[in-house]
Amino acid sequence: MNQLGSSTFSLLNTMQEMGHEQVVYCTDPETGLNAIIAIHDTTLGPSLGGVRMWPYASEADALKDVLRLSRGMTYKSAVSGLDLGGGKAVILGNPAKDKSQGLFRSFGRYVDGLNGRYVTAEDVGMTEVEMDWISETTRHVTGKSKENGGMGAPSPITAFGVYMGMKAAAKQAYGSDSLAGKKVAIQGAGHVAEILADYLAKEDAILFISDIFEEKSKAVAARTGAQIIAPDAIFDVDADIFSPNALGAVINDESIPRLRCSVIAGGANNVLDDPLRHGRDLQERGILYAPDYVVNAGGIMHVYGELVGESEGWSMKRAESIYDTTLRVFQRAEEKSITPAQASDLMAEERIQAARAKSK
Ligand code: NAD
Repeated sequence: MNQLGSSTFSLLNTMQEMGHEQVVYCTDPETGLNAIIAIHDTTLGPSLGGVRMWPYASEADALKDVLRLSRGMTYKSAVSGLDLGGGKAVILGNPAKDKSQGLFRSFGRYVDGLNGRYVTAEDVGMTEVEMDWISETTRHVTGKSKENGGMGAPSPITAFGVYMGMKAAAKQAYGSDSLAGKKVAIQGAGHVAEILADYLAKEDAILFISDIFEEKSKAVAARTGAQIIAPDAIFDVDADIFSPNALGAVINDESIPRLRCSVIAGGANNVLDDPLRHGRDLQERGILYAPDYVVNAGGIMHVYGELVGESEGWSMKRAESIYDTTLRVFQRAEEKSITPAQASDLMAEERIQAARAKSK
C-alpha cells in the first residue's frame, strides 16, 4: 500500500477507535491556512469546541491534539447536561507571527461549509479579534467581542465553576463545603486562576500561588495575600487542596508522590497524565480528584449561552450546577467502586447512549 493509502487507513481506524464522526483537513495556500477540524460526536447537539492556534512540531502532533481535545469536549458537554456534541479545531501556525484577517476569514469558510455541525470558539492562541474575523464568513462561531454581539471571555465563568467544584470536593472530603482556613496551592496565575483566587480569598482560604511569570503571581498575591511559591515547588506545598490551572498532565508519576493535599480541583484540562492509572493512584493515597472537565465546564456553559442567545447572568447561574454535578460524580464513584474520573466518563457515556437509544 502506498504512503497515502496506509496513513488514510490508520486515521480511519483511529477515528473508529476514538468514536470520531468526521475529520476535515483545510488548506488555503493564499492565506497560509493549514487547519484540522475534528467532529467527535453530535448525538446531543452540534459539536462545539475552541479553535487552537499552535506551532505544532508536526502534522501528526496537531492531529493527535485535535482528536483528543474534540473527544474531551463531547464528555464535558454531556456530563454538564448541555445539548452539545464535541468538536475542536487546530490551526497549525505561530499565533505570534502567522495571524491575518484573511487566514481567519478562510478558516471561517471551512467552518461554514460544515453547516453548523461544528461551532467554533476561542482556545489557546486566540482572542476576540480573531473570533470576530471568523464571524465575517460564518455564523457558526462563539466567543465574539461584545461589540460584535458576543458575550466576551469565558474565563470568569470558568473560574466561578472551578470554585463551585472545589467547594463540592471539600464537602465530600471534609464534610463541609466551607473553604475558610483551607490551604489551597494554585498552579498558574492566568485568567482562570486569578479570579479563582479572588473567590477563595473572599472566603478566607489560605493561598499559595505560582506562575512561570513572577509578575503574574505577584499581582495575585497583592490582591489576595497569597504566598508566592517557585513554579517547581508548588507540588510540595503542605496544602489541603491542590488546584492546577496551568498545563495538562501535571499529575503524573513524578508529581503524585510529592503531593501533600487531600483534594485536587482546578481549571486545567487533561490534568491526569494517565487518567486510569493516576486516577487509581490518587484514590489509593486518599486524594480526592475532582475531574477536570466536570469542574472547568463554566467556559463551555458560557459559550453555549452565547450560541442560544442567553444572558451572561444565565451562564453564571448554570455554572452553579457544577457543585451538584461534582457531588453526583463522587457519589457514582463510591457506588460503583471506581475513580471519580471513571465515574464522570461513565455518566457522560450514559447520557449519550440514552439519547442514541431514544432517537432510534
Ligand atoms: P492562561 O494562559 O491565562 O493562564 C495559564 C497560566 O499558567 C499562565 O499565566 C502561564 O504563565 C502559567 N504557567 C504555564 N506553565 C506553568 C508552570 N509550569 N507553572 C506555573 N504556571 C505556569 O490560561 P487560562 O485561560 O487561565 O487557562 C488555564 C487552564 O484552564 C488551561 O489549561 C486551559 O486549557 C484551562 N481552561 C480554561 C478555560 C477558560 O475559560 N479560560 C476553560 C476551560 C479550561
